[in-house]
Amino acid sequence: LKILDKGYVKLIDSLGDDKRIAEVARICYGHEGEPTDASVTRLLTTLINNQHTSPLEQVVFTFKVKAPIFVARQWMRHRTGSYLEQSRRYTKTKWEYYIPELDILPNDKINSKHIQKSMEGMFLFQIREYERLISFGVKPEIARGIMGTSFYTTFFFTMDLKNLLHFIEVRKDSHAQSEMQEYAIAIELLIEEVIPQTIKIWRKKDEKK
Ligand SMILES: Cc1cc2nc3c(=O)[nH]c(=O)nc-3n(C[C@H](O)[C@H](O)[C@H](O)COP(=O)(O)OP(=O)(O)OC[C@H]3O[C@@H](n4cnc5c(N)ncnc54)[C@H](O)[C@@H]3O)c2cc1C
Repeated sequence: LKILDKGYVKLIDSLGDDKRIAEVARICYGHEGEPTDASVTRLLTTLINNQHTSPLEQVVFTFKVKAPIFVARQWMRHRTGSYLEQSRRYTKTKWEYYIPELDILPNDKINSKHIQKSMEGMFLFQIREYERLISFGVKPEIARGIMGTSFYTTFFFTMDLKNLLHFIEVRKDSHAQSEMQEYAIAIELLIEEVIPQTIKIWRKKDEKK
């Protein structure tokens, strides 16, 4: 899913689904084997409504994310995730920067366009100066220090479902930064394809709050 002007979230892999959650939860009640469709719905509802969340930890997702550095910094505060990020010491990939859409900048369109141009000018200046430092022989890990947090980074992100639902809840909330909200909403849409019933029940509980 494309996010912002140049970002994305891609679901790379997943372990488990709605049925897996019910299957592992059944051990608590001494039941073994495959649950029926009806018992999957019943169990998922019970687990989610009673905060019996350990079975959700048996489902895991891996994503590839491209996001501005300031989004990545907020993202990685979620310590229960595993991360692997592109290194700026070892790579020479080109710098890409995030320019906010006009509608999230101040209302006056002319003023907004001016702000976009001004931001872009600053980003281009940083890229030029970075390249100049590199041409002087400055190491990339030192030269990158002059770059701002609106430049894009890419990382892999793996998290179990319990913590991922928490991530989505707090990051799609209106208190979170709008850019971060877009990524959280995208994650929710992607995992819904793998665990539709769980997401449906979880949303219902969320609506009741
Ligand atoms: C709107 C918003 C604004 C924020 N502003 C700031 C800010 O200004 N500055 C800032 O530094 N952070 C800020 N944060 C980050 C926030 O404080 C959390 O660090 C972040 O949301 C991760 O939440 P978490 O710890 O619940 O998630 P995770 O780190 O994924 O942890 C998941 C759960 O595991 C448990 N857990 C994890 N680590 C521990 C631990 N060490 N001890 C006990 N239990 C643990 C907790 O139950 C936790 O809820 C902000 C977050 C939001 C959503």
